[in-house]
Amino acid sequence: MTDSNYDERRSLRSELEQALEEADTGALRITLARLPEVAPTTRKQCLQSLKTVAEDAPDTLAAVISIAATKNAVGYLADVDRVGIIDRRKTFVDTDNRGRTGVDGLYAAGWMTAETVHQAIVSAGHGAHAAISSRMSDIAARYWPAVADHYVDWVVHVGRYAGDEEWADHTREWFEEEILVDGVETTLAESALEHLRTEFIDRQIDADEWQRRDREGQLALLEQMDDDLVNEYAASLQHTDT
Ligand SMILES: Cc1cc2nc3c(=O)[nH]c(=O)nc-3n(C[C@H](O)[C@H](O)[C@H](O)COP(=O)(O)OP(=O)(O)OC[C@H]3O[C@@H](n4cnc5c(N)ncnc54)[C@H](O)[C@@H]3O)c2cc1C
Repeated sequence: MTDSNYDERRSLRSELEQALEEADTGALRITLARLPEVAPTTRKQCLQSLKTVAEDAPDTLAAVISIAATKNAVGYLADVDRVGIIDRRKTFVDTDNRGRTGVDGLYAAGWMTAETVHQAIVSAGHGAHAAISSRMSDIAARYWPAVADHYVDWVVHVGRYAGDEEWADHTREWFEEEILVDGVETTLAESALEHLRTEFIDRQIDADEWQRRDREGQLALLEQMDDDLVNEYAASLQHTDT
């Protein structure tokens, strides 16, 4: 693969898979930790921080946010303080409807929770909901809840937001009317406004990025498919081309 993000993700994934295999044998200690603040848009920095923590404490897998989704396997969370286990002949991890457990930063999704025992798409949606919820909790903790309420998970074409002085004034007006609450210190307020402006600007992606994400998604899907079927389909395309 030529895409470096894709390579990086694959390598992180195989490291995590290996760690989880060890977890199955009980060889890995799972530690819930909180890393120093990482800028929200720099995934590379986040990966680097995780690697640094792993190097400093090689027997510890540290994560800022964890989403557990192991279906019938619930026991490994039973001894974690503030994680509730519900016993209904089968055991489930207790979460609210946003996938939150009693531990800050620890979420659970899918069939291991009592919130969903439905078809695959609902379980996948539950995982996505937990991911959004984790993002919003993080923003709320750094600023205040109204800032988090404006987080969205979609993107737009470049040019949607002007990013010029007039736009900056307009966003300030909107911020002061709808988001700012009494008692917030000026420095924190300015930092929240800057955060929201950055989110708007970063939401814009150009055609190349659009295509890169599209390709990354398709490659991820291809990895899950039967290789024989993929080869058969590729051969049929070559046949059509000639
Ligand atoms: C018999 C049956 C038939 C079904 N048919 C359909 C259907 O036709 N269509 C449909 O949409 N849905 C169907 N479902 C529902 C679907 O399977 C679930 O909605 C979905 O799989 C739940 O997703 P999940 O992520 O919670 O769990 P899973 O998809 O089961 O994912 C859990 C993952 O966690 C891993 N894991 C478990 N323990 C550990 C551990 N200790 N360490 C690391 N990893 C671990 C597992 O290997 C697995 O990969 C069916 C379910 C059953 C039981």
